[in-house]
Amino acid sequence: MKYIVFLGDGMADLPLPQYDNRTPLMIAAKPGMDAIASQGLAGMVKTVPDTLAPGSDTANMSVMGFDPEKYYSGRSPLEAVSMGIKLADDDIAFRCNLVTLSGLDTETDISMEDYSSDEITSEEAAQLIASLQNKLSDSSISFHAGKSYRHCVVWHGGPSDMKLTPPHDILTQKIENWLPQGNGSDKIMQLMLSSREILKNHPVNLDRVNRGLRPANSIWIWGQGTRPQLPVISDTYGLKGAVISAVDLIFGLGICAGMELIEVPGATGNIHTNFSGKADAAIDAFARGVDYVYLHLEAPDECGHRAETENKIKAIELLDSKIIKPVWDYLERNRKETGEDYRVMVLPDHPTPLKLRTHTSDPVPFAIFSSDGKLLHKPAAAYDEASCSKTGLLIDPGHELFGKFVRGDF
Ligand SMILES: [Zn+2]
Repeated sequence: MKYIVFLGDGMADLPLPQYDNRTPLMIAAKPGMDAIASQGLAGMVKTVPDTLAPGSDTANMSVMGFDPEKYYSGRSPLEAVSMGIKLADDDIAFRCNLVTLSGLDTETDISMEDYSSDEITSEEAAQLIASLQNKLSDSSISFHAGKSYRHCVVWHGGPSDMKLTPPHDILTQKIENWLPQGNGSDKIMQLMLSSREILKNHPVNLDRVNRGLRPANSIWIWGQGTRPQLPVISDTYGLKGAVISAVDLIFGLGICAGMELIEVPGATGNIHTNFSGKADAAIDAFARGVDYVYLHLEAPDECGHRAETENKIKAIELLDSKIIKPVWDYLERNRKETGEDYRVMVLPDHPTPLKLRTHTSDPVPFAIFSSDGKLLHKPAAAYDEASCSKTGLLIDPGHELFGKFVRGDF
């Protein structure tokens, strides 16, 4: 049996008054998803428990079959493992942003001007992080370069219970109210202060200022945690799994679950991503013996955050026509040739309603088709929030859905 999960990040939504109270899933033309729902089993799933924030990290962890209340241990360690950092059990990984602070010259009213330093390039950032690693690392602290403004600090044997604040939450605010607090915060504060001296006259920053760009004049450390101890997919289900995504967090989850990572050229995380390349990558993975593919598409979530209604609808339609259809066609062709059955599931991780421009914890619709004729007993008229909730099936806690999908027991 081959398995594939088509994950449209943030695809679920609320009724839109300007579209007769239909949601993007109801408006979009998506014959593939509708066929999965009408020829199989559909329902709703509560992916994120109310005790946790509905981030893509907790929600995708749940869809992959892992209880986030048991396994979630922070966002940064997932990014860290996706960057290839080997985290020991007592390593604490922190997100290290390269930020622009205003007011540093006069040391008054120092504020968070930009959490991304004008989206500094990875090439420039690598030079800055190398300088910080040179001057600030010691036997317990190390700096690791990631992409653009997103980097990592590892504190070997560090504390994990500090109160740290995401820099994108305090844009334009004075930082004095948001400095690190708790056990170990002195050391984190010292790293941030020392970084300012190193970054101030760094050639990369002088060059940026000359070009009218914001300098990365400080680091900002937050989002700490330990590596999550996820059970490995091959042990739990006997499956050889692979993850296709453009997002570090999702790759981090895949690594921790023992899955192969497949990077697709041109996979961007937005509406201009390489849809066909993702389908080709999934087909190629199946053809060389992978049993299970987790295919993640970030674009609908991005459109939700930007409140781009038309693009969100289009992203759903492209997921359907450029990804689901060719992969499903392949699996059906393969079944006719080899007799191997397959099971496909489509769902989002959480809603990202256009109206709210952020994630919610509401249950999301899911639909499953199984080529062996199992799971025919709860079809929905179409794949959308209202149709799938009409079947009366609600999976809560949501992490139980994946095991049911694999075993076929509902
Ligand atoms: Zn998400």
